[in-house]
Amino acid sequence: MGPHRSHSKIEPVPAKVGTPHRCRCLNRISKRLNENDVIDYDNDKRFADHDNEPGRQYHCPISSLIMPAMQPKTDFDIAIIGAGIVGLATAYKIALAHPSLRICLFEKEKEIAAHQTGHNSGVIHSGLYYQPGSIKAKTCREGRRELVEFAQKHHIPFDMCGKIVVATHPSEVARLDQLYERAQANQLAGVEKIDAHQIKEIEPECSGIAGLRVPCTGIIDFVQVARTLAEQVQAIHAENRLKLEHRVIGFDRHDYYTKLVTNQGPFRVRNIVNCAGLQSDRIADLVDVRLDMRIVPFRGEYHQLIGAAKDKVKHLIYPVPDPRFPFLGVHFTRTIGGEVECGPNAVFSWKREGYHRLSFDFRDSWDALSFAGTRALFRKNLRYGIREYAQSLCKPLLVRQLKRLIPSVTSADLQRGHCGVRAQAVSRNGEPVDDFKIEHQHNFIHVLNAPSPAATAALAIGSHIQALCTSRFNLKG
Ligand SMILES: Cc1cc2nc3c(=O)[nH]c(=O)nc-3n(C[C@H](O)[C@H](O)[C@H](O)COP(=O)(O)OP(=O)(O)OC[C@H]3O[C@@H](n4cnc5c(N)ncnc54)[C@H](O)[C@@H]3O)c2cc1C
Repeated sequence: MGPHRSHSKIEPVPAKVGTPHRCRCLNRISKRLNENDVIDYDNDKRFADHDNEPGRQYHCPISSLIMPAMQPKTDFDIAIIGAGIVGLATAYKIALAHPSLRICLFEKEKEIAAHQTGHNSGVIHSGLYYQPGSIKAKTCREGRRELVEFAQKHHIPFDMCGKIVVATHPSEVARLDQLYERAQANQLAGVEKIDAHQIKEIEPECSGIAGLRVPCTGIIDFVQVARTLAEQVQAIHAENRLKLEHRVIGFDRHDYYTKLVTNQGPFRVRNIVNCAGLQSDRIADLVDVRLDMRIVPFRGEYHQLIGAAKDKVKHLIYPVPDPRFPFLGVHFTRTIGGEVECGPNAVFSWKREGYHRLSFDFRDSWDALSFAGTRALFRKNLRYGIREYAQSLCKPLLVRQLKRLIPSVTSADLQRGHCGVRAQAVSRNGEPVDDFKIEHQHNFIHVLNAPSPAATAALAIGSHIQALCTSRFNLKG
């Protein structure tokens, strides 16, 4: 681990609790405590002998003698690491439920939504694909509804333009039927089967043999949503803060607070929510959470249709996804800004936050490739991986994929667009973790897997985490 590892603390050693030394010490201290005392554990000399003893630093039984009014002063009640859409929505939901708590978002970049949230394709997902009963299915459905209400209330432009999922080969029709069943199981309103003629009516340039029309899909700018969430959090309580350029590098756990260490200095906070996206496993490492997964970064590269070719796409057009892979396959999407994007492919990224094909980071690459799960994933999906890399390097191969949906698309219609890096949790046995993964330990909640559709689902994920915080952290006020 890096140098900040030294800040993390392990669980206390119960066998040492109540030793004669400790009792004498506690009696001595407690005799001198007044009800309104605010204890500064770090600078109070009465605690010095505890701090000098390894293994006793933060399991000081004085905590059981201290009344709430005498608890140590903290800077914030809740610290949220990461001002992407999940962290912001979580802060917003906690602020709404507990308006008197002081919340701080710590973000390492100069601006919010600098990574996944600012590099996604801006689709309000319907929730069609997800395992019925999964957190993904539930939060996508609820999150979409809340997102639309939030956008309406705050005048954020969006368009529920709907999408079609198109089968282009007879072998895909059975999977299309299964998707239809799934739409019913996931309670999606208005999904209907369409034939080749109806596909042409909706998307004149698209050719397919059968399809699904999904009206509850839309488009939005998630960066604008993120900005509005940040404004709302700060409006709810005057002491709520958004600290940009504050990279969290370590933790020092004490009885009543945790010292959260950033590149700009330490802060005392009571509870912490890790929403660090591509870095969430590393934040969890700092507090010794035992992880059976790692974040493996996959870069998605987009192209844009240019000039008159933009008119070839009226709404959103998706292929029937291959259930063996976590990604949806190459598709066409309109953006709320009026562009038409196509792609993405999904290639392993040599850098977690690298947005260029040549981006490389030794630590990121080593962490991914030294993990057995990544190697198992690559072995299982070798052919798929090679095809995706080939498509990334060779435009005609990408065009061939796109032509399956819109035969008239040519290389001349395309220019390179943006790309984004997905944080995909992969288990030790090489399976991509399918559902959202949120874990609780001590005064921490870790969001360990929040890939697509987490932007759509963010407000519902925020509610889920808020409920967890309320019960696990015993939040009041
Ligand atoms: C290419 C692509 C396309 C997608 N398309 C869609 C879509 O159309 N619809 C949809 O719903 N979802 C989509 N998604 C998924 C969606 O964008 C993500 O699931 C969502 O943005 C995750 O949000 P987040 O807040 O968890 O992560 P992020 O947005 O990555 O935010 C995490 C934040 O944590 C910060 N951070 C990390 N480490 C630290 C640290 N040590 N200290 C302080 N701050 C730290 C980072 O700087 C970052 O700002 C897409 C994703 C990608 C990559």
